[in-house]
Amino acid sequence: MQVVRYRTYGHDQLRPDQQQNFSVSVPLGTHWRVAACKEVDCPHYLLGWRTIVPAESEQAQYLRTLNTSRAEPGARRRFTESRSPVGTAIFTFPPGHKCFRPHKTQTGRPAEFLRSTGPFTVDDLTGATRGPVTFYRPTDWVDLMDGELYKIGRDRQRG
Ligand SMILES: [Zn+2]
Repeated sequence: MQVVRYRTYGHDQLRPDQQQNFSVSVPLGTHWRVAACKEVDCPHYLLGWRTIVPAESEQAQYLRTLNTSRAEPGARRRFTESRSPVGTAIFTFPPGHKCFRPHKTQTGRPAEFLRSTGPFTVDDLTGATRGPVTFYRPTDWVDLMDGELYKIGRDRQRG
């Protein structure tokens, strides 16, 4: 999630009811979807990759099933296997098929332009703002934030 956040003053300088938070949000739940490797220019898809694991490990045993009929639908992969002198198995996957990592891409849904007014708290872990939130059209949001920034600059010049 990309979040641009601007708080007009620090928490220690204003009462909570004087604080406001401008943000642009693209929440994972509504603005992103699962994507295929080729949609996100996945380097593994484009260039291929190698997975190196201990030769006698569960991971190696699992990988060896992926180019057999025992592979689950959609899990089948082409690869070559070689061994290193130190006992590892090197699985080389050629370009052009999906990797093991999940990918996401934006849905194209427009970002949410938000202003939250105090009192509020920001979750340090997620960055989510808790408090009354108002949604704006992008141009109105820019005008509103510009006006607030103007007031801050004016007040600072006055001292
Ligand atoms: Zn990928």
